[in-house]
Amino acid sequence: MPCLADSIRHMHPSLQELVTAVEQAPSLALMLLAAGQLAHRIAVLLVQEVLTQRAQRPAELPSCPKCGTRLRSKGFLPRQLTTRLGIVRWERRVGRCPKGCKIGQVAPLDETLGLTPHQQTSVALKQMACALAIFVPFETAVVLLQRLLGLPVSPSTLWHWVQEAGQSAMQRLQRELDQLAEGQPPTAERLDENTSAQPLLIGADGVMVPFRPENGTPKGRTVWREVKVAILARLGQRTTRHGQTVTRLERRRLVAVLGDIEALRPRLWLEAWRQGIGQAKVVVWLSDGGRGFWNLYVQRFAVYAIGILDFYHAAQNLWKGAAAWLDGRTTQARVWFDTMRHCLRHGEQDRVLEELAAALQLEGLPDSARKTLSQVYAYLQTHREHIDYAKFKELGLPLGSGLVESACKWLIQQRFKGVGMRWSEDGFNHLLHLRLAWVNGRFDALFAEPSPNR
Ligand SMILES: [Zn+2]
Repeated sequence: MPCLADSIRHMHPSLQELVTAVEQAPSLALMLLAAGQLAHRIAVLLVQEVLTQRAQRPAELPSCPKCGTRLRSKGFLPRQLTTRLGIVRWERRVGRCPKGCKIGQVAPLDETLGLTPHQQTSVALKQMACALAIFVPFETAVVLLQRLLGLPVSPSTLWHWVQEAGQSAMQRLQRELDQLAEGQPPTAERLDENTSAQPLLIGADGVMVPFRPENGTPKGRTVWREVKVAILARLGQRTTRHGQTVTRLERRRLVAVLGDIEALRPRLWLEAWRQGIGQAKVVVWLSDGGRGFWNLYVQRFAVYAIGILDFYHAAQNLWKGAAAWLDGRTTQARVWFDTMRHCLRHGEQDRVLEELAAALQLEGLPDSARKTLSQVYAYLQTHREHIDYAKFKELGLPLGSGLVESACKWLIQQRFKGVGMRWSEDGFNHLLHLRLAWVNGRFDALFAEPSPNR
């Protein structure tokens, strides 16, 4: 009977030890581990053999791109690449310009293979490493890489890969923003019939992130800066185990920027185009009281979207009014609030406004209570169109922005707010854009695009 272990042994002297490790493994777990290493090693040997054969094929060297003279061969020079399987080494013919043009070494085989001149790592490896870094700290990601692939990668190397990929994600976004500014909106993402019939929800929130006070040094006090995050999603329905129908967000797309509303605006607008804001049957803007976000709604989205003020936020303001006017410790305040909250929830927002107006007419109302009550009145009056909760409910739309807020918080919280984490602006931005690419389903495309930076 032919013995596989012996035939592998005979393939290459470097395999001897690995085969023995499999044979002598005391447990199945260790046996599988050793066999995995052996498999990688055989794969690398096979790839190296094929590369060596290809390198031997007679091929003419191209001409110098600068002066047009035929390049002169410098013989075979070594090249190596770190890949998911391990380090692959081969030798291939290299040419130089005989007239001394500064074009470096030209290796036609490398170009045919899709390698760039200074590339040391396979794109697939960087891609996998960056995917890990999107979810776990750099130090953890390198441990996982070591365990998954048996490859030693240093945290600083991984950090550089993330900067590189994140930067290319940011450049790609900038190109799209420039095109949008020139009147070329992006192509809308394709939707199936079901999805395109679902309401499109847009919401935004601000999340704080800890930064280093100065770039390049960990010294000094943490500076907290706000990241504006927006979500675009389709509103789907799901039936719970108890037969209840609940809303859930499907096809979630996130937009985020370390900057103000002005910086968020074009990014959100770009994504809204992609998510088919012009074609959606119903568009909903759902937000809490943040004035900046509502201004953005009025400027850009009111034409397309129904605006909904988060119900809990509106109720909270009513309570503020009740507490200022009737003293928050009294039953009277509680009863008034409960009644008003009920009215608000069930389509009697006008009665709520009337009650507030009537309270403001009362004689002997203390100044502080008057001030608070008039603020609450002005607030609800401004949002008169956005507090028609009975109508929204009838349309099957959500009344609370909780779903929006938790999606926005997740994007930032999960990765950027670990214990002791403090970010530099570039470091944050690069990783943020990789995370966005991932959640928006554009991560792989980032690595597929031929880029001079890779
Ligand atoms: Zn030349």
